Amino acid sequence: MRVARGLLVLLLVASPGLAQDDPLARIAGAASRGGAMTFLETLTDTVGGRVTGSRELRAASELILSELKKAGYANARFEEYPLEARWTRGPASGRITSPPESARALVVGAYGWVPGTEVEIQAPLLDLGSPAKGDVALPTGVKGAAVLVDPQKIGVDPSFVMRAALAKRLAEAGAAAMLIPSDKPHRMVYTSAFGLYPRAPLPVISVAKEDSLLLRRLLGKGAVKLALDLRNIFDTSPYRERNVIADLPGAAPGGEVVLIGAHFDSWDPAQGANDDGSGVAAVLEAARILKSLGIAPRRTIRFAFFSGEEEACLGSRAYVKAHEAELDRLRAVLVMDSGAQAPRGIGLHGRGDLEAPVRRLLAPLASFGATGTTLDASFDQDHAPFMVVGVPAMTLWVEDGDYDTNHHAVTDTLDKIDPRLLAADTAVVAMAAYLLADSEQPIGRRLSPEESAELLRKAGVEGTKRMVYAGAPR
Ligand SMILES: [Zn+2]
Repeated sequence: MRVARGLLVLLLVASPGLAQDDPLARIAGAASRGGAMTFLETLTDTVGGRVTGSRELRAASELILSELKKAGYANARFEEYPLEARWTRGPASGRITSPPESARALVVGAYGWVPGTEVEIQAPLLDLGSPAKGDVALPTGVKGAAVLVDPQKIGVDPSFVMRAALAKRLAEAGAAAMLIPSDKPHRMVYTSAFGLYPRAPLPVISVAKEDSLLLRRLLGKGAVKLALDLRNIFDTSPYRERNVIADLPGAAPGGEVVLIGAHFDSWDPAQGANDDGSGVAAVLEAARILKSLGIAPRRTIRFAFFSGEEEACLGSRAYVKAHEAELDRLRAVLVMDSGAQAPRGIGLHGRGDLEAPVRRLLAPLASFGATGTTLDASFDQDHAPFMVVGVPAMTLWVEDGDYDTNHHAVTDTLDKIDPRLLAADTAVVAMAAYLLADSEQPIGRRLSPEESAELLRKAGVEGTKRMVYAGAPR
């Protein structure tokens, strides 16, 4: 952690705005001690990958709760919600059986919450390419086929909206499986359950990019047949999943709250180090720092560790539902879920009205390079359910870095985390939490239901919202 401390000391020296008795300077100094990285190592190397509904996720929730209690958060607690379906990944294999001279194994992996094939199946391969719409006319021969298809971003809808629409369409037409070329390098496959939870309509399989190219070359010369074998397990018996919540009470009356969040569930093939172990580590360390420094902001800072994000923002949706009566007093939400990359500022997800106040608020963070705002909107993180109900919902904005390369792949492991950047993100999250909670004026108001609907439409996330909320009727 020596490097991290050096970086922060430099940043503090470079920032004339931060006097050493300034709470911000004290927060930044504490973040430089590297507590987030130490916690992240425990989370990843002891607990490991944390699929929602799994034993590992339960262990992670216990770990977070005990760390919060240890830090002095007597009010740290679980908040439960029902989980419709649990899912366990089993073995997955695929191979070319014809043409016989090209017979060989393929690098494949199941998407999340997809059914298995039960037995090894034989299926002819069909290539649908990249359809321009979800209700594309399907060629004859789809029934019983393994269909290779490359869902793309269409208009404002991200590719996973098309993926879900095509899965439904292919299942209705009787396809045996949907094969999606991975966009990762080095034969890595991808996983996700977005638009597929609580049960995908057919086996959805990620095929390594290199292997997809091989399949397409072979198809160019003639018929191709595959053998596919996926064994996944669903459990729909009653189960309650949990979020972990802790409050740093505000000094002012009125019960106003600022929520700082991250999700502690992850994908199973790796350690969920960057997605979203890094966010959990930064938010937990921010909680520990603010408590240890005796910081007492005007408003309550609520630290929220959500589960079920990877399925359909289940934990944050459950939170919004359970806390409906308090949403008028929820002044802002800040979520960290884009990895421990270099901080840039705060993402406002289309809320132009927040631009000026947030930039003013972030001015003291100039030495961290974290004074920027972006209006780019997304709906695939835990800020989204708060957008729906009009609460100012923001995310930590960071450099892209190599986040996408390892995202939802077997390579999302601890060694990819730069401790200096995680310390810088931790400092920014903790300082932003303090500034949001302590500012005299709230940074913005809660939008009416009509205004919120208009925001989703203008921000281009309406289609994603429809898909996510179709995921689990509640
Ligand atoms: Zn995430």
